[in-house]
Amino acid sequence: VCPQVSGELDDCHCDVESIDRFNNELLFPKLQALLQTDYFRFYKVNLNKPCPFWTSGSHCGLRDCTVKPCSPYSAEVNSELDKCEKSEALGAVDVSLSDETREALKNWTKHDDEAQRFCLLDDEWCPDSQYVDLLLNPERFTGYKGPEAWKIWTSIYEENCFKAFYTWLEGQCVEKRAFYRLISGLHASISIHLSARYLLSDEWFEKRWGPNVSEFRSRFDSELTQGEGPKRLRNLYFLFLIELRALVKALPVVKEGSFKLFTGQPQEDCRNKERLLDLLHTARSFPLHFNETSLFAGDETEAAKLKEDVRLAFMNISRIMDCVECFKCRLWGKLQTQGLGTALKILFSELPSSPPSSRLTLNRQELVALVNAIGRISTSIKELQNFRELLAEDT
Ligand code: FAD
Repeated sequence: VCPQVSGELDDCHCDVESIDRFNNELLFPKLQALLQTDYFRFYKVNLNKPCPFWTSGSHCGLRDCTVKPCSPYSAEVNSELDKCEKSEALGAVDVSLSDETREALKNWTKHDDEAQRFCLLDDEWCPDSQYVDLLLNPERFTGYKGPEAWKIWTSIYEENCFKAFYTWLEGQCVEKRAFYRLISGLHASISIHLSARYLLSDEWFEKRWGPNVSEFRSRFDSELTQGEGPKRLRNLYFLFLIELRALVKALPVVKEGSFKLFTGQPQEDCRNKERLLDLLHTARSFPLHFNETSLFAGDETEAAKLKEDVRLAFMNISRIMDCVECFKCRLWGKLQTQGLGTALKILFSELPSSPPSSRLTLNRQELVALVNAIGRISTSIKELQNFRELLAEDT
């Protein structure tokens, strides 16, 4: 009954079992520790951007979709925070901010604004963006489903995943196939999280969240999904490999003496940098890394064109996230697409002919998104282990 996912992954020299061992024993605990720190738990995002593709109802009205970002650095900081503190704890953000953290966030904004002053596609310098506390807004079951959710997934796959290739997967080039596998892996990860932190009971005084084995089976069991479930799980492992490889390639950037994890508290900054470097070294120790040079490897002009196609499709998917009507889902959808976008930038932004002067740079927003994104995938792989055990107990 356990969805069978094992053995070597396509287009890689890596097997599922090695990833399980490496992730569950080594990477996962380190990632979890890092993601608790203030630097990585606050993500700046604009959740109020209108959907650029169709008129949407703007939000779904489900209680568990709520995200309450209170801007800690706004002029009305105190009244904003008061409102937050009084609001239902469900999905609220920033309620736990100490005065110190609030001050630090003000400094981050100043520091980030000085570093780069323009409004990127992905929000971080836009005035409407706000810091959201990710630990207070966990990715879990929200009840968002039906035609609205389907419309998002359909337009992602049909319009942005190289439709022809989606239908005739085998005939397509390895890059387009890889792109589809990344999106499908992200979709699988979301499905695992909502099954692992499912709303098990909803009494007026308490909500209980936990693993729902039948929800998990309905999404991944081979028989119940006409064989698709295990393939989707394999795509999750592929996504893990891509993001893991990007972490390794980020190492030289982070190592630079001038690269700071700025929070305004120098001791904390140093400790966080050490923790991050430790994580990146751990990532580097994985022996079966994906070889990114196998992609976009042909004729340079054709490779550049293909890269541009993939980049545009990916940008479109980022913009579709503004059409997700459940704000909690939108928050994590935006964060994870930005994290994956950063991974792709790290792996593929340089051409063999690029001059050494066009060296890779990473800003805070990209780093926070990347580390949180792989944190999600790493957690999914860990959750799979848990589901395997629960399914074994069931039989
Ligand atoms: P869906 O998951 O909606 O899938 C639609 C169709 O896509 C399936 O029928 C299948 O044909 C195909 N499909 C499914 N999985 C894959 C895959 N891995 N690869 C390729 N094709 C696939 N809900 C929550 O409870 N919590 C969340 O945090 C959350 N975040 C979301 C984020 C985004 C960006 C979106 C679009 C939706 C999110 N949802 C979330 C909703 C959730 O993803 C499902 O849409 C919902 O649970 C309904 O599921 P479903 O069984 O109808 O199939």
